[in-house]
Amino acid sequence: MTTDSTAHDSAYWMAQESEYYVHTFNRQPIVIERGEGARVWDVDGNEYLDFVAGLAVVGLGHSHPAVAEAVRDQVGTLLQTSNLYYTVPQLELGRMLVENSCMDKVFFANSGVEANEGAVKLARKYGRLHRNGAQSVITVLNSFHGRTLGMIAATGQPAYQEAWLPLAEGFTNVPYDDLDAIREATTDETCAIMVEVVQGEGGVNVPTEGYLKGLREWCDENNLLLIFDEVQTGMGRLGHLWGYEHSGVEPDVMTIAKALGNGVPVGAFLCKERCNVLEPGDHGSTFGGNVLATAAGRATLGHMLENDIPGHAARVGDYLRAKLEEFAVAHAPATTGVRGVGLLQALLFDQPIARAVVTNANAEGVLLNPVLPNAIRFMPPLIITEADVDECLTKLDAALTKTLAA
Ligand SMILES: *Cc1c(COP(=O)(O)O)cnc(C)c1O
Repeated sequence: MTTDSTAHDSAYWMAQESEYYVHTFNRQPIVIERGEGARVWDVDGNEYLDFVAGLAVVGLGHSHPAVAEAVRDQVGTLLQTSNLYYTVPQLELGRMLVENSCMDKVFFANSGVEANEGAVKLARKYGRLHRNGAQSVITVLNSFHGRTLGMIAATGQPAYQEAWLPLAEGFTNVPYDDLDAIREATTDETCAIMVEVVQGEGGVNVPTEGYLKGLREWCDENNLLLIFDEVQTGMGRLGHLWGYEHSGVEPDVMTIAKALGNGVPVGAFLCKERCNVLEPGDHGSTFGGNVLATAAGRATLGHMLENDIPGHAARVGDYLRAKLEEFAVAHAPATTGVRGVGLLQALLFDQPIARAVVTNANAEGVLLNPVLPNAIRFMPPLIITEADVDECLTKLDAALTKTLAA
C-alpha cells in the first residue's frame, strides 16, 4: 500500500475504484485532484473548465479564499459540539438565511435529502395539528428530492423507485406543471405540496408562468403547506438568491443544501412562523448545523451577499442562454433547443447522444453533465465570466462535431 497519491496516474485510481468501491456511479474517467475558480485539474495534469461545479455546489468556485480561510480557522478552533449546546457559526448563518429570505425559522441538516425529510416531518406535524390529521404530500413526476427510502417515494421517477419497493406511504406523484392534476390529487389526507421551482435532475424543466402562483393559491384555499425544494435552485443559481424570487411566489417551507457551504456538506429547511410547529424532541441531528459546516455556509452566504453574486449569475446566465440559443440554431437539427433559468440551463439533442458528447467535451477540457439521454446540463460556478462561456461553447462545438462524425 502506498501513501504517496501523486505517484499514480488516473488509470491506477480507476482500477482501485472498481476493486474496492460499491459500483453505484457511472463515473467519467477523470480523477480530479485540485480546483481553483471555475477550473479543476486531474492527477495526470489535465485542466478542465468546470460546468458541473460539484453538481451545482461550488457557486463561488473551487478553493474560494473566503471559504477556505473560514474553514481553516474553524478546523483549528472547534469541530463538533452536538446540538446539546449553542455555537455561534450556526446561529449567525441561521440569522443570515432568515434575514435574506421570506422565511422566519431555520433547521440545519447535512444534505439535501435530509433537509427534505425534515420538511416533510414538519408538514406532517402541521397536518396533524391544523388539517385534521392529514399526512400525505403531493409531489410531481420527474422531480428529484434525494435517495433515502422516504424521499424516493417523493421523487416522481420510477427509475429511482422500482427496485426498492415497498415505497414509504404518504406520497402521491402527479404530472409537473399541471394544476388540474394537483387539484384532482388533493384529498382530506393531503397536508402539503412539494415541488422544485425548476426541476434539476429531471432535465432542467421550467414550469409555465402561473404554475407556482396557482400552487400558492391552491395551498392557501385548502390550508396546505407549499414546500419548495430549492436544494439545486437556491443560493443564486437562477440569478436571484432564491429560486422562488424568480416566480414571485413565496413558499411556506424551503429546503436548501447544494451551494450553501460551497462544497462543505450542509443543508437546511426554512419555514414561515405560521407553520413553525416542531417542538423539542420532534427532530434532531448529531452533525446538522455543525460548526465547520455552518462556518463554511456563513462565509459562502456572506461573500455572496456582499458581492451580489446572484446578480452576476443573472447577467452571465443571460449571456450563456443567448449563446446556447445561437449554438442550438447553428447545430440544428442535431440540437433541438435550450431550456433553463439563470445558470441552470440544458441543451437538447434530437438523439440520445448526450453522454457521448460529454465524453468528447471532457477530452476537449470542459466538464458537463448529461442530465438526460438527449440533454446536457450547464451548472457552472456562479462566478464564471463571459469568456468562460465562450470557451465552453467552443469546446462543446468540437465535441459535438466529433460525436456526429463518429
Ligand atoms: C441534489 C438534490 C437533492 C438531494 O440532495 P443530496 O444532498 O444529494 O441529498 C434534493 N433535491 C434536489 C432538487 C436536488 O437537486
